[in-house]
Amino acid sequence: MPVESSIQHTLASSVSRNGIGLHSAKMVDITIHPAPENTGIVFRRVDITNVDTAIPAHCSNIADTMLNSRIMNNEGVTVGTVEHLMAAFFGLGIDNAIVDVNASELPAMDGSSAPYCQMINEAGIIAQGAPRRFLRVLKAVTVETDHGKAEISPSDELIIDIAIDFNDSAIGASKYFYIHRNNSFEEEISSARTFCLYQDVTKLRAAGYALGGSLENAIVVDDGTVLNEGGLRYSDEFVRHKTLDCLGDLYLGGIFVLGHITASQPSHALNNKLVKTLLADESAYEIIESKPEPVILNDTVREPVAALA
Ligand SMILES: [Zn+2]
Repeated sequence: MPVESSIQHTLASSVSRNGIGLHSAKMVDITIHPAPENTGIVFRRVDITNVDTAIPAHCSNIADTMLNSRIMNNEGVTVGTVEHLMAAFFGLGIDNAIVDVNASELPAMDGSSAPYCQMINEAGIIAQGAPRRFLRVLKAVTVETDHGKAEISPSDELIIDIAIDFNDSAIGASKYFYIHRNNSFEEEISSARTFCLYQDVTKLRAAGYALGGSLENAIVVDDGTVLNEGGLRYSDEFVRHKTLDCLGDLYLGGIFVLGHITASQPSHALNNKLVKTLLADESAYEIIESKPEPVILNDTVREPVAALA
């Protein structure tokens, strides 16, 4: 299975969709293509032709973390709201893919990662020959912003432990404990949608955000009530979506991370600060080519001892 595999994976074929950008309200076509080993995830703007439009999905290319994660290359070419697709890539164990879009923002789809998972599964997932690289955390790294705090500490698998507390009784205080294993992303968090408070909608739109937002692609909460027909997909959908965002932002580190994240009131700014601070401290991690296996005493383990004698 791709998530727990120690070799790289990509899509088996190309797959396309279209939709509206959450913040820009622009219609956008998206095609996800397979990519060779060691490509990583690379976005391209096919509506721009006079410059290099390839933007590797890496936190060194982050241009904005206000209400979305926007990346930019050296030519100033940008693409925004990449986090829900990045979460789907991480969640399904995709190492390599090229993503073509013809506008400045990815489609909002239904506000979750589920439609992206559906695209990837429809295309199929194939194993490649090269070993997968993992970043394994060796010591704790802690960051803070005005509103939130996050830490990543050593663990042999990825764990995301999130707490939120919102001043609206429909959201309130909740926690989620996520262990990243085969199928866990699709089963637990991929369908959790983004959300906002109705009282913030006018402010957001005045600032140029959420222009494409609607009850079709976001949960809207007003004074203790969920305005979407049909209500929530999970009673704790809000904190599950924050877990999804964390996973997507974490993958802007460009590598699958093995570590235990504990975060309160996370935002894209906090998630990106955590990834950048971790990557900047080379003593805080090691790069390995296979996930650690439990230590089992058998003949294979004893052989080198015999050789020494
Ligand atoms: Zn989100």
